[in-house]
Amino acid sequence: MSYISEVLAELDARDPGQPEFRQAATEVLESIESVLDKRPEYRKNAVLERIIEPDRQIMFRVPWIDDKGVAHVNRGFRVQFNNAIGPYKGGLRLHPSVNLSIIKFLGFEQIFKNSLTGLPIGGGKGGSDFDPKGRSDHEIFEFCRSFMTELYRHIGADIDVPAGDIGTGAREIGYMYGTYKKITDRYEGVLTGKCLAYGGSLARTEATGYGLVYLTEEMLREKGKSFKGMTVAISGSGNVAIYAAEKAMALGAKVVTMSDSTGWIHDPAGIDLAAVKEIKEIKRGRLSEYKNYRPKSEYSTSGRVWQAACDIALPCATQNELDANDAAMLIKNKVVAVGEGANMPSTPEAQEMFVKNGVLFAPAKAANAGGVATSALEMSQNSQRLSWTFEEVDARLHGIMKNIYRQTAKAAEQYGHKDNFIIGANIAGFTKVADAMLAQGIQ
Ligand code: GLU
Repeated sequence: MSYISEVLAELDARDPGQPEFRQAATEVLESIESVLDKRPEYRKNAVLERIIEPDRQIMFRVPWIDDKGVAHVNRGFRVQFNNAIGPYKGGLRLHPSVNLSIIKFLGFEQIFKNSLTGLPIGGGKGGSDFDPKGRSDHEIFEFCRSFMTELYRHIGADIDVPAGDIGTGAREIGYMYGTYKKITDRYEGVLTGKCLAYGGSLARTEATGYGLVYLTEEMLREKGKSFKGMTVAISGSGNVAIYAAEKAMALGAKVVTMSDSTGWIHDPAGIDLAAVKEIKEIKRGRLSEYKNYRPKSEYSTSGRVWQAACDIALPCATQNELDANDAAMLIKNKVVAVGEGANMPSTPEAQEMFVKNGVLFAPAKAANAGGVATSALEMSQNSQRLSWTFEEVDARLHGIMKNIYRQTAKAAEQYGHKDNFIIGANIAGFTKVADAMLAQGIQ
């Protein structure tokens, strides 16, 4: 049995029933085979066995009382996966689908993504199966306070620095930060994605979406193409999708679709982003309202955004949202490039189809790393007790994304997989962490 098969068999025996984690682990392990052949010391030092086993997995009860006086109990998670290159870093997802498999897949991805940023941050992730949809501001506060009442003892500015993810934005981070400060009396950069009034970084909100477009633009440029004049399909309507749309438009593209969990909009004349921002960021409403702003657009609760003809697809909603049928539709419509804004949005079958059909494919670990990279810049500003201008943060973000593209392309080519950025990102992200683990001994 090969080293990789042995490690995956062990994972199946120990953690059955974790399909998302299995999927993420398989993708990384299978794509680093050529590295393992060249570097036998990784096997000798059980690097794979150690990297797939989190340093620590914390699960806890989150009790809270709703506005009617009814008590609820949710489950909270923080998986501290790997801190070989820096303090654990990764977001908190608040969504009813959250379970240990999902948090482990996200934490595992975060190890390699954070490594690719070139900044000193390890991998972690957390969250809860709490559903924020339809909850009042007071209920959100009650939940966040209860969640942090347990989480505070496991985190710290030099230990583990959580941030936002699906369901967790500046409001939730604010309530959690207030609770952390109240309990510990420490004023430190323990969370990122804070609002500007108390230590947040300019450009953090825009960072994941902008970074996705910067990296995709780099990949296109290499082939003599760009966003200019391209039609772009985007899924999702959270901050990744909104700011990917904003940057794509700024580079001369036309964005024609966006979606939320109930349906999707198709506006062939080009999405009115001010309308989407008003619906989503101000009213916290649903995309079905978009028709009130643009009567000629279409809103649909069936089908998928990927059926709209486009040159570039940017999946920015959630894991496994783009499957083999979607990939077939995109390929039939002659898609040129796919850039993943969400974490693991394409299924393994869809990924394989893009690679086989010569579609330029930027995997999430590389393409959506701009968010966490800017979180690391927020940590630097907090430690320095300084705040940088929007232009300064944005310029650093742009430089980081270009560097991620270069590292990824170089690793792919060096190991004989030119233009396969999935393999390139996994190899480049993995080797840095693995070398740090080797240097630190078997821990
Ligand atoms: N949740 C984001 C991600 O998936 C950001 C994490 C962070 O800023 O720590 O990378």
